[in-house]
Amino acid sequence: MEKTTKENTVATIDSTTSHLRENPFQIARQQLRLVGQTFNIDPNLITVLQECKKAVEVAIPIRMDDGSIRSFQGFRVQHNVARGPSKGGIRYHPDVTLDEVKALSMWMTWKCALMGIPFGGAKGGVICDPKQMSVRELEGMTRRYTSEIITLIGPEKDIPAPDVGTSPREMAWIFDTYSMNKGHSVLGVVTGKPLTVGGSLGRLEATSRGGLYCLLEALKKMDTTPVGQRAAIQGFGNVGSFLAQFLHEEGALVVAISDSGGGIYNPKGIDIPAAIAFKQETGHLRGFRGAEAITNEELILLDCDILAPCALEQVITADNAAKVRAKVIVEGANGPTTPAADDILEDMGVLILPDVLANAGGVVVSYFEWVQGLQEYFWKEDEVNGKLRDIVCKAFEETWALRAQRQTSMRMAAYGLAVMRVAEATTTRGLYP
Ligand code: GLU
Repeated sequence: MEKTTKENTVATIDSTTSHLRENPFQIARQQLRLVGQTFNIDPNLITVLQECKKAVEVAIPIRMDDGSIRSFQGFRVQHNVARGPSKGGIRYHPDVTLDEVKALSMWMTWKCALMGIPFGGAKGGVICDPKQMSVRELEGMTRRYTSEIITLIGPEKDIPAPDVGTSPREMAWIFDTYSMNKGHSVLGVVTGKPLTVGGSLGRLEATSRGGLYCLLEALKKMDTTPVGQRAAIQGFGNVGSFLAQFLHEEGALVVAISDSGGGIYNPKGIDIPAAIAFKQETGHLRGFRGAEAITNEELILLDCDILAPCALEQVITADNAAKVRAKVIVEGANGPTTPAADDILEDMGVLILPDVLANAGGVVVSYFEWVQGLQEYFWKEDEVNGKLRDIVCKAFEETWALRAQRQTSMRMAAYGLAVMRVAEATTTRGLYP
């Protein structure tokens, strides 16, 4: 819950309700150390890579609709730029912390390296509840936040994009604010823009499409197809809703979906197009006909074949991992599984398609959008999707092969490949000065 008083106009957030039970940056560092040990990476390099290159905190004062002024707290973190300009989304959520943004920026570094796209990792966040704010307030906050980080971002240094709580609308405001200050349109400063102002075809669906490609490859390895597979999908935002639609179109039975207000379950399969229309109309999934209400916690433990956490971090933990019944987990969200849960699931033989692989489709098409913007030459949707498929499937194959070769998990293999690529770039460039 957000609280403001007349005397104190700084937004304070009650952290007892946060979804972050463990410090995400400690988790990200723990994963990195494990990768270092597993793949024998020079400890000096791990020392470099476990820190963020730059972390900035800004105050974002804006006038609210009631005439009062509130100051929101925002962050932009650049983890690493050894392989190219830093890249990563901006999150608007009440639970945002600096350490969460740091972890997310580190994961972006690994994601871009695993995909072989020429970016480092970054992330931004503002502590706010966008659902409680008017469009005017959100625009003011976005423009002021952009102004506060304007010297940090740019097409050649750091390129934001959408994340939890932001969408193409916010990206248009960032693009406009940056461009107005430069005196000309700078298409490459931000990705995930609306199509009318230099967005890329296929970007909106890209994260889910990448997840689908990854899952299809995994199912092929398991000698099966999506037809008739029972899928439970947590989160019905950009990632979860398109993934539900794609799986439905592939012939899977989407038995459960949820948003932040709770979920719905039907063991015979939910009519996904109808659920999407219902959500668009009412703003929630609650009360959707022909399905029973379930909680987000129950969804994780449902009897299903495919589980796709597509919302926030730390939803599969040491407390519930042993009760997970899915055979495959597709991490549409960043960091949904804690390291302790990872160990439990690995012992149970559950195949986890890790975040840096399964949700990388978004940043891959962001890369395409950036390239198209720099060239001012735009591609057809088939071309975007075809190139996305090539990149995701190649990364999947490489990860699968390393996993078999090293007898490790998909996560360790994916992070291993990524960290080795970043380590190699760092070594090749040398330490400055
Ligand atoms: N926020 C997305 C992610 O976590 C997209 C980042 C981007 O496109 O730069 O991958």
